[in-house]
Amino acid sequence: MTFVAAAMPILGLPRLGSGPGRPVNSALTMDYRREYLRELFSATPGTMVSAYGWVKTRRDSKGLSFVQLNDGSCFQDLQVVVNAGVVDEATLKLITTGACVRFDGEIVASPAQGQAVELVAKGVEVFGAADPLAYPLQKKGATFEFLREIAHLRARGNTFGAVLRVRNEASWAIHKFFHERGFLHLHTPIITASDCEGAGAMFAVTPSLKTHGDRYALDTTDPKEDFFGKPAFLTVSGQLEAETVALAMTNVYTFGPTFRAENSHSSRHLAEFWMVEPEMAFCDIVGNMNLAEEFLKAILQHLLDHCAADLEFFNKRIEPELLATLSHVAESPFERISYTEAVDMLLASGESFEFPVFWGADLQSEHERWLTDTKIGRPVIVTDYPKAIKAFYMRQNEDGKTVRAMDVLAPRIGEIIGGSQREERLDVLERRIADMGLPREAYWWYLDLRRYGSAPHAGFGLGFERLLMYVTGMKNIRDVIPYHRAPGQADF
Ligand code: ATP
Ligand code: MN
Repeated sequence: MTFVAAAMPILGLPRLGSGPGRPVNSALTMDYRREYLRELFSATPGTMVSAYGWVKTRRDSKGLSFVQLNDGSCFQDLQVVVNAGVVDEATLKLITTGACVRFDGEIVASPAQGQAVELVAKGVEVFGAADPLAYPLQKKGATFEFLREIAHLRARGNTFGAVLRVRNEASWAIHKFFHERGFLHLHTPIITASDCEGAGAMFAVTPSLKTHGDRYALDTTDPKEDFFGKPAFLTVSGQLEAETVALAMTNVYTFGPTFRAENSHSSRHLAEFWMVEPEMAFCDIVGNMNLAEEFLKAILQHLLDHCAADLEFFNKRIEPELLATLSHVAESPFERISYTEAVDMLLASGESFEFPVFWGADLQSEHERWLTDTKIGRPVIVTDYPKAIKAFYMRQNEDGKTVRAMDVLAPRIGEIIGGSQREERLDVLERRIADMGLPREAYWWYLDLRRYGSAPHAGFGLGFERLLMYVTGMKNIRDVIPYHRAPGQADF
């Protein structure tokens, strides 16, 4: 991006004359091709620029005003100095927290600390004022609970702006990671007609809800007459469909929304969240662990390299030691232990846990946290869980008791990735489906994969919001997604 000198055309349009209190450039065509605010910080002093954004604060002192302006393109606000007489009284009154404005002016070296340059205004246009008495994001230090109630405005604040930039960069890093390694990006269905994934409670999908007075009811009680001719649900995972394509295209991944009707008010569960699910043919549990570790480290490193200012903010305001931990994790090998070893460690810990520890019990969040935070101090991959607590599709070990499951546990968060080598043997899989009392007919297509050209394969699911919690230090999963869906919370 280049910068234009004073009185030169901007975007091919002549600059209009400016004067005190008079908006300049109001005839400029609206076009996304203009400097983002983050680019103005590297402008050479002396250049004329236009800065578009929303006012964070305005401070008046002895005839001049300082305005902090932000357009979301970076953490730092641009300081705009408005000297006496540049803007008339009535217009200045409109430049309050939350207002949307454009300042035209000259970039100058800043005498203030913490910023190389600032903008000396020569003119302003107010696009949208924001009544200071009514604007909900008036004060600093609003609680995250309160911000959830104004989710439509929270992107204007420091914390949520930083969350959204990190979320965007992480999303890009994930696609880049897989693309560079030849994985095929796959879109799996969001509506699924068979409840055979078994990963959690599902939401039903039907077009025929009718209001009956103040209640809703189905048009028909016969699923055969419903839209899909059978019960349909929102997907809890794209894994089974991803497996079908991995057994044709070798390495694939999905990155899409998943839904679980978890009636839980936990700070780690949402009803709608995004999941990254790679699936690889010719891959076993060790290859799966290697990919998971390489993947997490690559994403962390990418974010350390590309979101420095935002992560520094999280480090300062949300989670002390965040930066040190992330760099450490990006460089050191993950611990790898079996479920049996994990249980032995927990039993020998001398801790009194709320949920009892014994071989065969599922690891609860408190156990996961003890392993990662207290005992090991970095991410841990736990493998070979008892088959009774894991899904039917996981590959059985020779001991007849355990399956090739792997959970990646992260400090502060607990489970961040869940995965496994999949059962590729038709007879073993059929027996498991029968033993678990699952409806065999529902899996006909899944079993076909083992019937025709089966291959050892493996994959995992990463909860995207869990990753973001880990990277930002944010304590509640509801604060790392633009619009959170949780029990009783589907506003906006
Ligand atoms: P948990 O025990 O934490 O509920 P899970 O065993 O149900 O997790 P999986 O079915 O293995 O999780 O899903 C894969 C990943 O998706 C998890 O490792 C986690 O990161 C994420 N995840 C699962 N459920 C949720 C949820 N309700 N909200 C957000 N992320 C979730
Ligand atoms: Mn769960």
